[in-house]
Amino acid sequence: MELRLYDTLSREKRTFVPLDANNVRMYVCGPTVYDFAHIGNARPVIVFDVLFRLLRHLYGEAHVKYVRNITDVDDKINDRAARDFPGLPLNEAIRKVTEQTGKQFHADVDALGCLRPTVEPRATEHIGEMREIIERLVAGGFAYVAEDHVLFSPQAMNAANSVLPRYGALSNRSLDEMIAGARVDVAPYKKDSTDFVLWKPSKPGEPSWPSPAGIAAHGRPGWHIECSAMAWKHLGEHFDIHGGGIDLVFPHHENEVAQTCCAFHRERMANTWMHNGFLQVEGEKMSKSLGNFITIHELLADWPGEVLRLNMLKTQYRSPIDWTMKSLEESAKTLDDWYRVAADVAPGKPAASVIEPMLDDLNTPQVIAALHGLRSDAAALSGSLRLLGFLAESAAQWEGRKQQASGVDATEVERLIAERTAARSRKDFRESDRIRDLLAAMGVAIKDSKEGTTWEVAR
Ligand code: AMP
Ligand code: ZN
Repeated sequence: MELRLYDTLSREKRTFVPLDANNVRMYVCGPTVYDFAHIGNARPVIVFDVLFRLLRHLYGEAHVKYVRNITDVDDKINDRAARDFPGLPLNEAIRKVTEQTGKQFHADVDALGCLRPTVEPRATEHIGEMREIIERLVAGGFAYVAEDHVLFSPQAMNAANSVLPRYGALSNRSLDEMIAGARVDVAPYKKDSTDFVLWKPSKPGEPSWPSPAGIAAHGRPGWHIECSAMAWKHLGEHFDIHGGGIDLVFPHHENEVAQTCCAFHRERMANTWMHNGFLQVEGEKMSKSLGNFITIHELLADWPGEVLRLNMLKTQYRSPIDWTMKSLEESAKTLDDWYRVAADVAPGKPAASVIEPMLDDLNTPQVIAALHGLRSDAAALSGSLRLLGFLAESAAQWEGRKQQASGVDATEVERLIAERTAARSRKDFRESDRIRDLLAAMGVAIKDSKEGTTWEVAR
């Protein structure tokens, strides 16, 4: 069975063949750490975690390298630092913001059942690599210095007669159209409207580093060069998979390809480009002004992380997803059932019926349908769910957490059930019905069988 993945660049599903099966390499653009991550940000994290797990299953855990960066130099970080810590020197305030936000991000995505990437590089620790790429680009005639900035010229790239890809190929845009559609108020230091920033001067007090390309003033990198540098350092000039949300195709990924391919005279940066679709909430675009902006942190107060994970995977990663309360409730019920059936069972081999749709460009809706079909084979269900990052808890922990969340006192429930059993055995059905109704009012559902009475918190 072969893995097939949709590639944004060639716009088709293709068989995945790693450059080196002993070292399968994937880069995914990570968060800019200035605020709590929202549930839309959780989508790429979960989707590429599923792919990471699948690749480890196919090629062996030691043979897959997953790099997801942390962007810790950015205007939004500076603004937040100045706002939240006005009494501190800016650089100290920035450290506080990035540390706190980074920790929160880890807590959130750990709770979503995501493995940590193999490497989690920080932009500020890769300034040397950024400078080196920038200097190569200037030397190659793809970039130029102007007013303490370094700018990349897509027109120089497309004029070069070489192996390079065409600027615009990834996002399927033509450079001529970009030029025609450019804004009129282009920064004065740009030769052409489509030129983008590789390096810029820092304002006084802002983080700054020695500049490349002979610029005397200290400065800081543009956003796009950060990913080219970190991917190069940890995965090399050319690697297997590059991922992120669909909004990153242009300009971020288009510019990453341009920088990397021009610096290293390469035809490609990554062999497969993967992009997840966007998430909206209850049929509306998520935005702070609409008041429907939900953080992962807030959702985790009401739902176990695995419920959020399952809910995300009910939609295939390339489609838009509508995040609704109704769907979350269904996901919670499904997981309650799977925990009861499979959590305490020794895991068997993941089922072929689950692996097959996974190999088809991560067709997770089909995977979930297959999981429903495995209820009668608890070992296979257990093994399959674990492969997908579920069943981190025992059945008792899962049930206990629900009780805690619902405020149900398990000891009191057990006592009432014992009273009800006693009432039934003396045929006092009025009393036994009264206790059952009382339990129902507490949100507890009971089930009688030959073995006795079991109970659970009804959601
Ligand atoms: P940002 O912090 O905005 O750069 O986003 C981090 C990651 O989350 C990127 O891969 C984005 O493409 C992705 N992302 C942001 N918003 C959404 C959304 N509403 N739905 C899906 N992915 C998103
Ligand atoms: Zn990136």
